[in-house]
Amino acid sequence: MSFFADIKALILGFWTTLRHLGRRSATIQYPEEKRSPFPRFRARIVLTRDPDGEERCVACYLCSAACPVDCISMQSAERPNGRRYAAWFRINFSRCIFCGLCAEACPTMAIQMTPDYEICKRDVMDLVYEKEDLLIDGCGKDPDYNFYRHSGIGVVNPRGGNPDENPPLDVRSLLP
Ligand code: SF4
Ligand code: SF4
Repeated sequence: MSFFADIKALILGFWTTLRHLGRRSATIQYPEEKRSPFPRFRARIVLTRDPDGEERCVACYLCSAACPVDCISMQSAERPNGRRYAAWFRINFSRCIFCGLCAEACPTMAIQMTPDYEICKRDVMDLVYEKEDLLIDGCGKDPDYNFYRHSGIGVVNPRGGNPDENPPLDVRSLLP
């Protein structure tokens, strides 16, 4: 009985090999050939700017609190007009597991994941990125979002006065 089971397993193995012989290879010649990841692929992290060109990060520490491997650190500072920013901001990519929790936690859309996966280095210390390595000139995803026009000290309209907001609700109007 075991003899026939062995023959069957052997035939199945050869059959699987034969079936794949005519297929196109899934292997690509990296780095000459590169795959384009999906836009939501989570790789290198960046710090973005708001539509006014200002740093979005307000150094609230939420991303570092959410990070499960403790690879984000920063020091908060404040400008004379009261606007907070990160005096320095550091991510240790040798520890990052690209889970995206920091981007989920960020209230200002400052920290964002990009599909750039080519960040391998020979020296592990080169994977420690400082603010100047992280901060980009653009807004990244959601380019129109401006935290300071909605919630920060730069709010110019009354609550609910922005075009994309609903006016505040009078809760008494909900009473029976
Ligand atoms: S992607 Fe995850 S592990 Fe990497 S910095 Fe963000 S929270 Fe930390
Ligand atoms: S990146 Fe976002 S969550 Fe992290 S400190 Fe800056 S504003 Fe806060």
